[in-house]
Amino acid sequence: MSYICPRCNTIFSSEEYSQDKFCTKCDTFLKKHQEPRIRKITFTKHEEDSNYWIIPVKQAGSINRSIVKEKIWAYGTDTPGRNLIKPKDWACFYLSKHGIVAHAEILTYPRKMEHPPVNDPEKYNWVFKLGNISVYLENPLKISLTIRKQLDAFKKSDPLSTKIAIDSWGLFVQSNKQISLHDFKLLIGLQ
Ligand SMILES: [Zn+2]
Repeated sequence: MSYICPRCNTIFSSEEYSQDKFCTKCDTFLKKHQEPRIRKITFTKHEEDSNYWIIPVKQAGSINRSIVKEKIWAYGTDTPGRNLIKPKDWACFYLSKHGIVAHAEILTYPRKMEHPPVNDPEKYNWVFKLGNISVYLENPLKISLTIRKQLDAFKKSDPLSTKIAIDSWGLFVQSNKQISLHDFKLLIGLQ
């Protein structure tokens, strides 16, 4: 934790402010300072035939357990895209009510197995490995209206359909979707 002077913007580390909470330069009362958190981006290489996916996630715990610890993700038999995902594809993970909180490269085809660390391993028994993982749970990329307006996924043939699509974003992120490279980059903060 650090502190910042709201008047002269000097930042004080916790050791420096321990005496008192006033700026040594201008004597203003210091405020808690939130360090800007940088999203670590690992998306560097992609292939002509790479596909891009957005995968909704209900709980942050699944991100930590499956992606961070196990470096895997699991689909159910009926999960959309289960037959289509393949090595060298990329996926970004959308945590309900937060935004995009992770992305990763898909390293393997889904293989049928029961993987105990997965939530409900009997249902989610098509497991694939992930690599080049970036997780930014503390710093999600919010899907703002500005971003939604730029997504290929919502560009429809006429303005009204486009508006309806943008407004029903919640519906869009209810299941896995294939998205364009343009949208993928936008959603992981690269554009
Ligand atoms: Zn000051």
